[in-house]
Amino acid sequence: MNKHLKQLVDLAELDKGIDSFEEEEAKINENLNSILAEQNSHKANIETLNVELEELTNVKKKNDGLLAELTDKIKDIEKKQTLIKSEKELKALQLEDEIAKEQINHANDEIERLDRLSEGKKEEIKDLETKITELDASIEQAKKDSESELKDLDKKRKDSFKKRETEIANVPQNLLSFYQKVRRWAGSSCVVPMKKRSCYGCHMVLSERVYAEILKSEEIVTCPHCGRILYAVNEEA
Ligand SMILES: [Zn+2]
Repeated sequence: MNKHLKQLVDLAELDKGIDSFEEEEAKINENLNSILAEQNSHKANIETLNVELEELTNVKKKNDGLLAELTDKIKDIEKKQTLIKSEKELKALQLEDEIAKEQINHANDEIERLDRLSEGKKEEIKDLETKITELDASIEQAKKDSESELKDLDKKRKDSFKKRETEIANVPQNLLSFYQKVRRWAGSSCVVPMKKRSCYGCHMVLSERVYAEILKSEEIVTCPHCGRILYAVNEEA
């Protein structure tokens, strides 16, 4: 195989490995991330509950104000009752008094209902806070569990980067730029073998001329259909 083509095949293999580290890392952190996601959802729920709690407090404040107004009104009615002059006036005041008392009852019921709702939400928040604290322990454990795996991965990653640096030091600059250009869109399949006379990247059949060129492997050949860099492999193997 042409020396430069061999360099690109090796480089692509190395880059593929480097790409796979990210996936590997995600897999190692899967458990940790799922616990973190659970914890975050609890935190978001607490935020929602706090907003609802604030709304309830505002409604309750309005009812407290109403209650104070009604209490004043009752006092006012009591004062007026001492000055009554006619039966008609008495009846009107009694009616006013009844209505105000009914409204007071209603406001008190409403305040009680709001208090109950608030208490319920506070309970929910407390439960969620307990869960969050419990998850903190699970998070610590998950971090510990993946620590050594992540360390190994980090070592592999560093080794690969070092190898890559050594590798690209020998690749001519224009070839490296060309490789990187293909890699930008083709990713880890930027250098692919030719199999059954087809490009292994786009699976299109190659012409006789391209096929022969790749077999000769004297130059860097790209797939005329997709532009990936192609190389020949021993298909019997
Ligand atoms: Zn192709």
